Amino acid sequence: MNQYCKIQLLKDFFLTKLHFCDNKLRFNWALKLSFFLFLMLLPVFKVRSQTISPTINYVTGKFEPAQSIDFIKIEKKYARTVEASKKMFLRKETYTQLKKMFTEAAKNGVTLNVLSATRNFDYQKNIWENKWRAYKNEPTDYARSKKILEFSAMPGASRHHWGTEVDLVAVTNSYFEHGEGLKVYKWLQAHAAQFGFCQPYTKNRKTGYNEEKWHWSYLPLAKQYQKFAQTNLTDASFKDFLGAQTAIELQIVKNYIVGINPDCQPN
Ligand SMILES: [Zn+2]
Repeated sequence: MNQYCKIQLLKDFFLTKLHFCDNKLRFNWALKLSFFLFLMLLPVFKVRSQTISPTINYVTGKFEPAQSIDFIKIEKKYARTVEASKKMFLRKETYTQLKKMFTEAAKNGVTLNVLSATRNFDYQKNIWENKWRAYKNEPTDYARSKKILEFSAMPGASRHHWGTEVDLVAVTNSYFEHGEGLKVYKWLQAHAAQFGFCQPYTKNRKTGYNEEKWHWSYLPLAKQYQKFAQTNLTDASFKDFLGAQTAIELQIVKNYIVGINPDCQPN
């Protein structure tokens, strides 16, 4: 291949109108160049899947998912209700894998949909404080928080902050114990891991929230946030909401952030 040919080939390549002309040498050279460029770009793709490094603000939900380029809105067809779809966001990678899982489930006659996805600090604060007011007859603040913590996290301590969590189909365990719900749950138990999802709140754990058959976590991203949260958050980190003073006595980090299904734990 002469010098002119190489220069022409490079020019064509970058103008993205590569045409493998007349001789084999030129084709081989182009293949080598493509492979080289592919190798150069590999780390970019790898980093792309973890673009948001863990920070205190991120793991405690102090951001707006709708304004982040790493988040994407869930399409109506994957949401339980049209209303829910208007405000549900996930990290892009979580969403890609979730859609693959939904498609595979549908092939097996199992219908999946999303009830809740990313919830930032303010969203979780709203849930928490509504329950705090509702449980006003509990004898102590500790008991009041403990009651909420059966199923809801303190603002700042929810996995739903991370863009990696979804609540699927129904938010009662009883739904998943018979009929269509049982079929859905059995399918998820058998297949969710193939798509990166794990159920963090299984039954028979010693600490933490009650069992939640509807809550699934996308581990390839969630593991790094879990690791960061359990290493960097303290019980004194939780503040600026009603009942926050109970976090220390309840040992939120040890009992609720760490206290998940061992299969979903980072190494
Ligand atoms: Zn959940």
